[in-house]
Amino acid sequence: MAVERTFVMIKPDGVMRNLAGKVIGRFEQAGFKIVGLRMAKPTKEQVEGFYPSSDDWFGKIGEKTKHRYNQLGIDGKAVFGTNNNITIGKMVKKWLISYISSSPVVLMVLEGNNAAEKTRKMVGNTDPINADTGTIRGDFTLESVDWANSDKRAVMNIVHASGDSAEAKEEIAYWFKPAELFDYENAFDIIINKLGDA
Ligand code: GDP
Ligand code: MG
Repeated sequence: MAVERTFVMIKPDGVMRNLAGKVIGRFEQAGFKIVGLRMAKPTKEQVEGFYPSSDDWFGKIGEKTKHRYNQLGIDGKAVFGTNNNITIGKMVKKWLISYISSSPVVLMVLEGNNAAEKTRKMVGNTDPINADTGTIRGDFTLESVDWANSDKRAVMNIVHASGDSAEAKEEIAYWFKPAELFDYENAFDIIINKLGDA
């Protein structure tokens, strides 16, 4: 058992499609406690600083893209004009900056057992067409990586969730001041404490 906090963002497509309530509701239903919540229209600079800029991260994005193309038998070089993972990753980051800064997002911090891993499971695969039914990305969109790439835009996958506990700590600090986060007892805490004492 590891009660921890993680960061979730409802991206512009999620807010514009009136999915904020449904997405928040899924996390509440799973037992997460909302300890921070606000709306913002991120600037390009904020988005630039939020997503990593390491060659390692660019490379991973490029790899994922190529993997999807291999599955589909599409020539990635014809779409991107290169086979270099890092160059592809940098292009995707530019698209991501336009997308996330285009319209308001909902930012939240969720607290619960194994929060980072559990929220990732609930969010599902980055590529929505490959995301399992029952996940947010799998249930609310038919978007796909190859579709987004051919339109030269970021994958519109409704929600962001920190990749792991270390990323969560950084991302919470990036978007929230300590005074914007709240400690309180919710119904789950009360039930667990009450039944645990019996
Ligand atoms: P996540 O942690 O599942 O959100 O995925 P990543 O951290 O790898 O990527 C961040 C975001 O960039 C994703 O949620 C997508 O919006 C976008 N993205 C990632 N990979 C690709 C890609 O190959 N092509 C495009 N067009 N967008 C991508
Ligand atoms: Mg990520």
